[in-house]
Amino acid sequence: MTSPFDLSGRTALVTGSSRGLGRAMAEGLAAAGASIILNGADAGRLTEAVAAMTAAGHTARGLNFDVTDEQAVVAAFAALDAEGIAVDILVNNAGIQFRKPMLELETADWRRVLDTNLTSAFVVGREAARRMAKRGHGKVINIGSLTSELARATVAPYTVAKGGIKMLTKAMAAEWGELGIQANAIGPGYMITDMNQALIENPAFDAWVKGRTPARRWGRPDELAGTCVYLASSAADYVSGQIIYVDGGMISVL
Ligand code: NDP
Repeated sequence: MTSPFDLSGRTALVTGSSRGLGRAMAEGLAAAGASIILNGADAGRLTEAVAAMTAAGHTARGLNFDVTDEQAVVAAFAALDAEGIAVDILVNNAGIQFRKPMLELETADWRRVLDTNLTSAFVVGREAARRMAKRGHGKVINIGSLTSELARATVAPYTVAKGGIKMLTKAMAAEWGELGIQANAIGPGYMITDMNQALIENPAFDAWVKGRTPARRWGRPDELAGTCVYLASSAADYVSGQIIYVDGGMISVL
C-alpha cells in the first residue's frame, strides 16, 4: 500500500525557501518524494540552496523572483508553463518581520510588510490556482503565525498580515474547493531562524519564550516539515480552510 503521505510525481513551489522555515519545509516535501522549486529574492543564496538540496539527492531547481513584484510572479509562472512544469503544491512562505511602535511607523513600511507577507500570498496563490483549476487538483499552504490569532506590541503590520493570512486561507478554501484545490495554513511559534536571531540573542526575550512555551524551548525549522507534508498530501484531501499551529503549545496558554 502506498503511504498517504507519498508525494512522488508532485511538484512543489515553496516561496522564500532559500533558508529558514521555507527551506526546511522544502526538504520535508522532497523527502516525501516531491520535486521542488525553491524561491528567494537573493539569487546567490537561492543558487546555494539549490546546490545543497541537489547534493543531498533531491530533485530541486530555483526560481528567482521577488514575491512583491507582480510582473515577476506572472513571468515566473509563464516560464514554468513554457517548460511544461505544473505546480501541484504551493507553499506561500516568503515573509519579513519589522518592529516599530505604530506611533512611529511610516506608511511605506506598513505597505512593505503587508505586500510581502499577505498580498504576495494572494498574487502567487492566484497564479498557481488558475493552473491547478485546469488540472482539477492542487494544494495551497499559507504560512501564518501566532499573530494570526493574537496581537503583540510593535509588530502591527505583521500582525495584520498574518491575521489576513488566516482569512485568506479560508477565502481560498471557500472559492477553490469546487475546483479540487485545498487551502490550509500553518502557524509556527517562535522558531530558530535568521528572522529571530536578534531575539534569540536577547536573554530577556529568550527567557520569555522558554517561560511561556509549554515545550520550554524555541522550535526547530525541521519541526514544520511533517505538518507541511501532511497538508500537501492526499491524507488531507478533505481538510481545507484550517490553520494548524506548530508552536510547542504556546497558542493555548498565551
Ligand atoms: P527568514 O528571514 O529566515 O527567511 C525568509 C525567506 O523569505 C528567505 O528565503 C527570503 O529570501 C525570503 N523572502 C523574503 N522576502 C522575499 C521576497 N520579497 N521575495 C522572495 N522571497 C523573499 O524567515 P523565516 O524562515 O523565519 O520565516 C518564514 C516564514 O515563516 C515567514 O512568512 C514568517 O513570517 C513566518 N514565521 C516565522 C516564524 C519564526 O519564528 N521564524 C514564526 C511565525 C511565522 P532571501 O534569502 O532571498 O532574502
